[in-house]
Amino acid sequence: MTYVVTEQCIKCKYMDCVEVCPVDCFYVGENMLVISPDECIDCGVCEPECPAEAIIPDTDGRAEAWVEMNREYAGKWPNITRKGEAPADADQWKGVEGKFEKHFSPKPGTGNG
Ligand code: SF4
Ligand code: SF4
Repeated sequence: MTYVVTEQCIKCKYMDCVEVCPVDCFYVGENMLVISPDECIDCGVCEPECPAEAIIPDTDGRAEAWVEMNREYAGKWPNITRKGEAPADADQWKGVEGKFEKHFSPKPGTGNG
């Protein structure tokens, strides 16, 4: 059981989530974060912290497509445990559909774990 980050995170990266995770299992890409499904203890505290509603439990039907994506990039990107600065245009990307296809970047971000 795990929580996963979905495409709503792309270009938002408010990073409120990373501060509350008791096991530090968030990993950072150039423009989104992922959760390591193998480290997440399914506590759920990060879910309500996300202003973009990007975090969902794997019991949610929409999560299926994201579990493997989160696992793959958690293995490639650096760990992040402290909130950084959100992009200046983060608010205008909130709720935009189809961000994964158009805007996902596989490049790693800057970790601080
Ligand atoms: S708070 Fe939500 S949108 Fe922000 S980085 Fe965490 S998962 Fe992504
Ligand atoms: S559900 Fe808990 S353990 Fe999993 S990512 Fe969120 S805060 Fe971390």
